[in-house]
Amino acid sequence: MFNPTEIRKEFPVLSQQVNGQPLVFLDSAATTQKPIAVIEAMNDFYKNHYSSVKRGAYSLSAKTTQKFEDARAKIASFIDAESENSIVFTKGATEGINLVAWSYGLSNFEEGDEILLSVLEHHANIVPWQLVGKEKKAKIKVFPCDDNGDLQISELPNLLSEKTKVVSLTHTANSIGTVNPLSEIIPIIRKLAPKAKILIDAAQGAPHSKISVKSMDCDFLVFSGHKIYGPTGIGVLYGKKELLQRMPPWQGGGEMIDEVSFEKTTFASTPARFEAGTPPIAEVLGLSAAIDWLNGVGMENIIKHEHQITDYALHSVRALPATQIIGNPKNRGAIISFIVKSENRGSDIHPHDIAMILDENGIAMRAGHHCAQPAMQRLGVQATLRASFAVYTVPWEIDRLCQSLKRAARIFG
Ligand code: PMP
Repeated sequence: MFNPTEIRKEFPVLSQQVNGQPLVFLDSAATTQKPIAVIEAMNDFYKNHYSSVKRGAYSLSAKTTQKFEDARAKIASFIDAESENSIVFTKGATEGINLVAWSYGLSNFEEGDEILLSVLEHHANIVPWQLVGKEKKAKIKVFPCDDNGDLQISELPNLLSEKTKVVSLTHTANSIGTVNPLSEIIPIIRKLAPKAKILIDAAQGAPHSKISVKSMDCDFLVFSGHKIYGPTGIGVLYGKKELLQRMPPWQGGGEMIDEVSFEKTTFASTPARFEAGTPPIAEVLGLSAAIDWLNGVGMENIIKHEHQITDYALHSVRALPATQIIGNPKNRGAIISFIVKSENRGSDIHPHDIAMILDENGIAMRAGHHCAQPAMQRLGVQATLRASFAVYTVPWEIDRLCQSLKRAARIFG
């Protein structure tokens, strides 16, 4: 039986007091807490099996290499990829996007080419394209959203053409929680921009939904380990195998080569060619344990629970007199974003001031632009408070949030 109160006990961080009160952790979109199974898997590696991968001809290293490659296969199956060779280990979603931009983008963009990004993107899915776009004189076009924060699909015919070389879109907007209708959008891109490669930023999607890169029909997909109950310092880039195989390396070093001489170097096949240097081994094993843990809990259970808790939070926060939810997307992930108005001053109370009061009450919540300044600007705010949920979020945390928001409104109102 799925029971979030029991699940919380598996997360040591959640049992502590902060400022004299039980911690309320509502910042899982920034990073999730870690279950003991993940912490133990990494400890076990350091305590009992520590060795490098690939290089050693000795048993310890051979075993670690096996576990490391098993993790790759596990991740391939987790996102329904055709082969483990489509899985490249990166430092996180940010590095995955940079890899595609600096490898695929740099070698394929020509002057006048176009890159389509949505206005809802995290800066990690904007800035790498700007850097490479500038280098190659490729132009960025912006897929707009409406006042609710839903992408305006009817605009696609005006934005896509033979010139579009990359479309890079988020699965779920980290700022306001919009879940994009990718199964509707991707076929339109395929039809109107036949030369475009499609990258999906699943940093906020992979922890909260079933991902199938096959049925989605994307060319690339990225996510981060630390947002999916795994460690920091590890992420995943999925790429269609034949595409990765044609892409040049973006970083050079050990393990990514076939043969090296001062005259000429030849490169290993994918994924090794994109994994220069000693990889983050403990982190890969930690991510592998996180996927096992998640599969054990069951993604269907997680999705159902997060829907319920998000609905509860939305209704509770909406019911407070001074709050205003920002964005009202048709399909919402486990995120709500809002501002608090001052009744007397007739203006907004700065989200950072509210966050300070929340912290006094033991509530960990993010305030700011959430690395999505274009989205904030489009929705007419500079910053918001963001409550984001995970498998371990429970209703009393939302109740505590609401009490504390009332207190903050009294203090600043
Ligand atoms: N994309 C989205 C939608 C995100 O929410 C984040 C993290 N906030 C990133 C990309 C970047 O992830 P990371 O910092 O783990 O590389």
